Amino acid sequence: SQRIKIKALLQTTPAEQEVNVKGWVRTFRNNQFIALNDGSTNSNIQIVVDFQNTDEALLKRITTGAALSVTGILVASLGKGQAVDVKATNIEILGDSDPEKYPLQPKKHSLEFLREIAHLRFRTNTFGAIFRVRNSLAFAVHRFFQEQGFVYLHTPVITASDAEGAGEAFKVTNLDLDNLPRTENGEIDYKQDFFGRATNLTVSGQLEGELGAMALSDIYTFGPTFRAENSNTTRHLAEFWMIEPEMAFYDLADNMDLAEGLLKYVINYALEHNREDIEFLTQRLLDEEKSKPQQERSEMSLLEKLQFCLNNNFERLTYTQAIEILKDSTPNKKKKFQYLIEGWGADLQSEHERYLVEKHFKKPVILTDYPKEIKSFYMRQNDDGKTVAAMDILFPGIGEIVGGSQREERLEKLEQRMDEIGIPKDELWWYLDTRRFGGCPHAGFGLGFERLVLFVTGMGNIRDVIPFPRFPKNAEF
Ligand code: ATP
Ligand code: MG
Ligand code: MG
Ligand code: MG
Repeated sequence: SQRIKIKALLQTTPAEQEVNVKGWVRTFRNNQFIALNDGSTNSNIQIVVDFQNTDEALLKRITTGAALSVTGILVASLGKGQAVDVKATNIEILGDSDPEKYPLQPKKHSLEFLREIAHLRFRTNTFGAIFRVRNSLAFAVHRFFQEQGFVYLHTPVITASDAEGAGEAFKVTNLDLDNLPRTENGEIDYKQDFFGRATNLTVSGQLEGELGAMALSDIYTFGPTFRAENSNTTRHLAEFWMIEPEMAFYDLADNMDLAEGLLKYVINYALEHNREDIEFLTQRLLDEEKSKPQQERSEMSLLEKLQFCLNNNFERLTYTQAIEILKDSTPNKKKKFQYLIEGWGADLQSEHERYLVEKHFKKPVILTDYPKEIKSFYMRQNDDGKTVAAMDILFPGIGEIVGGSQREERLEKLEQRMDEIGIPKDELWWYLDTRRFGGCPHAGFGLGFERLVLFVTGMGNIRDVIPFPRFPKNAEF
């Protein structure tokens, strides 16, 4: 009989038919009950072993972690949790697992420990749930854009532009390390690293994305992005995935509507398609919170938070209005925010963002019209001469999840801004061409995919929502 996945099997009514399941042993109790899992769901199928008629040597090889192929009869379950069991007629060991050495014991492991064995953590319920949710979110992102006629545009990973100086870029090199090219001063000539050209790994596909939008109208990218973030935060990775739509004939309000619509669409999609996993993750958090003092526990469960996000409009206000709120706020009893000292013009720190979202508005917030000094050169300048048509979306527990803007389409304004901050115009001649030939109002944003997965799974560390996290000193698996 053909292999059936456990998720489908658990939804089948017991009709005494023969089935075949394959998976990995989670537990084996009393020489009789195997909990088998194949990653299609967190629920295990219970295999009932006829131990009296099973070879002793084979029984010994049914250990936690071993891979099995089980043929048997689907019957009504003996236990309470599930509707069906498989009464084994034939068990084949596909791969042994030494119980003395297998790192995943049938108990709760800490996330820190599981990060050290990231190559095996896929086999736990928590990571099974996380990566199935991540998969659904990625699919939903594509579905959202495809339904609206956006073109999925693949932007390069290796590039000579560092796109705005968005972050520290990793250099790309194919240099012969034993025979490095030198400048006249004897220093290594990094300008030659990529076949004689200085290049780096992309920090954003935006500038290239704009080129696509200036012909195809609506495009999006969805690919890996690299930043040499040499810091250890729970929100930054050296390699992360970013979704960057870019739309012709959009203004800032259209841009915000699209971003809010996208976020709600994909969260809703995950709630509909991954209910079981999200309920599991919700319970996981509730269990975790039991050890915290009452006042530190969150007011809403994960499931309630996601639902709340869908049912409420994101709060929209300007940076200037946000500063006014922060000035008057007292985050803790005695001290006011540092803002009173730094004043208008400073970038918001995550404590300010979190205050606005979690304490003041208690919902997602879109901040617009930031001071031009703290934003990139390509953002459209407002008439006040001080601010640009930028928008950041801030989420509870996450902080910044989206950064975007209406782009500066006026050639003189763009060139003047580049001169002001010293961005060489000749290097970006191709970018400026889009303003020379049929430039038009357009806008776009970048959504950090892992920050989205963090929000939907309720996890606390970005390293736990990407299969193979890249951060300082971590690149092996
Ligand atoms: P932050 O202020 O959190 O460092 P940023 O303003 O530098 O973010 P942008 O250049 O605006 O980031 O990138 C767009 C989005 O990409 C961000 O809103 C965020 O969701 C995500 N992002 C940025 N840097 C990282 C990173 N190192 N790891 C994971 N996601 C990131
Ligand atoms: Mg950053
Ligand atoms: Mg930022
Ligand atoms: Mg940003």
